[in-house]
Amino acid sequence: VSCQVMVTRLDSPRLNGAAVSIEDRSRDEETEQMRRDFVANVSHELRTPLTALMGFIETLRGPARNDPDARARFLDIMERECRRMNRLVADLLSLSRVEQDERRRPVQTIDLAGLLRSEVATLTPAAQASGVRLELSVTEDRLMVPGDADQLVQVFRNLIENGVKYGGSGGVVTVSLQHMTHEPVLRGPAWAVTVADRGEGIESQHLPRLTERFYRVDTHRSREKGGTGLGLAIVKHIISRHRGRLRIESEIGQGSRFTVILPETVGRV
Ligand code: ADP
Repeated sequence: VSCQVMVTRLDSPRLNGAAVSIEDRSRDEETEQMRRDFVANVSHELRTPLTALMGFIETLRGPARNDPDARARFLDIMERECRRMNRLVADLLSLSRVEQDERRRPVQTIDLAGLLRSEVATLTPAAQASGVRLELSVTEDRLMVPGDADQLVQVFRNLIENGVKYGGSGGVVTVSLQHMTHEPVLRGPAWAVTVADRGEGIESQHLPRLTERFYRVDTHRSREKGGTGLGLAIVKHIISRHRGRLRIESEIGQGSRFTVILPETVGRV
């Protein structure tokens, strides 16, 4: 614990003495340290593709100037790096927006079952191209819950895309929706959306840290797959704005399950 102790002399005609105030500064310091780490991480994440771009520009001006094959290859890589920077900036803006929104409750009412159906349909072609089948297990029809449609789309898209990217070796990613009459943590009825893959799984020591900004189990692999390391941090903030919970379970060799639990305050129509 770090404290700031202030001693002030009291100089008044009737009082003679000093006042001591002790203030706990550890929370402030922790926040300040987190902010510094974040800025350092962002700088590092931006510098990596920039350094690569600078290197390729030099090569294109020099040794590869008259080599059309090398030029084409390098331009492809440069385009990929630019796209990655673009995604990073988009995710940073998204994160800052959801953090700002966190205290305002969503006012819309959305059809959760319809949203999941349409999201799975949208992501199916890309998953198929990576050799992964998306399975949807939703029996409900028009299921209204309080929520922000754009933000919840972002949550399920991130989780499904992660399932395909990191758990795709299992060949299938399942999205299912279940009703819970009494969710113990939310202490009430809730809806649970589970995105499950049958991939390699995640070692247990990583699970509590997965939603930290820029935390990755394997940085090289995440970069290779175009990840920014911010997806699950954004997911966590959006769910918290919806007064929900994110549960992550994983077993090595069996796969991972990400469950979004949303309180049911409106119910079926
Ligand atoms: P990224 O942009 O790196 O994908 P995320 O915040 O979405 O960032 O995820 C953080 C890390 O969690 C990933 O880099 C990956 O290591 C791990 N991860 C996420 N989803 C899965 C999954 N379904 N299976 C295995 N690992 C996963």
